[in-house]
Amino acid sequence: MAHVVLKDLVKTYGGFKAVNEVSLTVNDGEFVALVGPSGCGKTTTLNLIAGLIPITSGDIVIGDQLVNDLDPKDRDIAMVFQNYALYPQKSVYMNLAFPLQMRKLPKAEIDKKVREAARVLDMTQLLERKPRELSGGQQQRVALGRALVRDPAVFLMDEPLSNLDAKLRVQMRSEIKRFHQDLKATIVYVTHDQLEAVTMADRMAVMNGGYLQQYDSPAQVFAHPANMFVASFVGSPAMSLIPLEASTANGDTVLKSAEGWSLELSQPNARKAQGASSRKIVLGARHSTIRLHKSAVPGAIPAKAYTVEPTGDVTFVQALLSGAIVNISVSPNIAVKPDEQIWLEFDQERMHLFDGETEMALE
Ligand code: ATP
Repeated sequence: MAHVVLKDLVKTYGGFKAVNEVSLTVNDGEFVALVGPSGCGKTTTLNLIAGLIPITSGDIVIGDQLVNDLDPKDRDIAMVFQNYALYPQKSVYMNLAFPLQMRKLPKAEIDKKVREAARVLDMTQLLERKPRELSGGQQQRVALGRALVRDPAVFLMDEPLSNLDAKLRVQMRSEIKRFHQDLKATIVYVTHDQLEAVTMADRMAVMNGGYLQQYDSPAQVFAHPANMFVASFVGSPAMSLIPLEASTANGDTVLKSAEGWSLELSQPNARKAQGASSRKIVLGARHSTIRLHKSAVPGAIPAKAYTVEPTGDVTFVQALLSGAIVNISVSPNIAVKPDEQIWLEFDQERMHLFDGETEMALE
């Protein structure tokens, strides 16, 4: 296995920068998810690592080798694609064996590797079947197996679960995670699904508009989003972001809304707000950190329930506050109706503050 280093990686199409000065290191044996919305540049980044498209500038190192100008076949990588890319006429056995035959490995060695991959992925009983005789999850496992037999330095996976139904996706998520743990493989995994990234990856590289926004463990990204984009992208339902204005008088800092309600900040939030580049502050709050009251209590802010979604365990309420949608989760035994007057209490210790001009987290 090997580490992967991207240094100031750029890919332009005409004048458009699909990947913009991306630098990151994937450690040996690490599972890194490249995650972001459609068009953010994650697949392009993966394809640059694979050598499927040429880089515009920057460097890519795999292991100790600068691979900028190497063909994909010489990069010691294996790719797993969204569409599995299996040979339909060949049996599972032959699908796994084929890349090794191309490398002219001895027959006995090929057989050993294929059977070992089948054992690891629990598909020994499927070796004689054709891809069309397999379920989507089994086809995905064959695609993983085909990467595995090549024993690459790095696995590159492009949305490998997106063709599976929701239940199978959750199951395969655990299987790929297990695959990573057992093999201690270096994996770069592209997904648009933040939950996949959060649940599977050691570190997640959150991208937007070709830029790397934040690169850290899922726990850190969740607890300390670097900016408003990351804050709203990671976590479901999304973090609520409420634009406000700060004012400080007699040492006290208050966030004021255009409607006239205000929220006095305790420390360290007051200090953070004072460090902003202007008076514009955006208050960020995750659904589980907002208390919903059915009557006025001191410190709680009046709002109006907009939608109410019971899920069984928990009920998600969307409320309208200062022109923003606020997501709140409440116990299912709290009955709330759309358009009902409610009051929201923000947990000062768990709130996030962002600079309204730069959109960066205030620390
Ligand atoms: P998705 O999840 O939709 O695949 P992505 O984050 O993987 O999105 P990329 O496929 O990396 O996004 O594309 C990044 C940007 O580069 C997009 O705006 C896309 O339209 C553009 N792009 C990708 N390939 C080309 C190309 N061959 N020519 C021109 N523009 C391209």
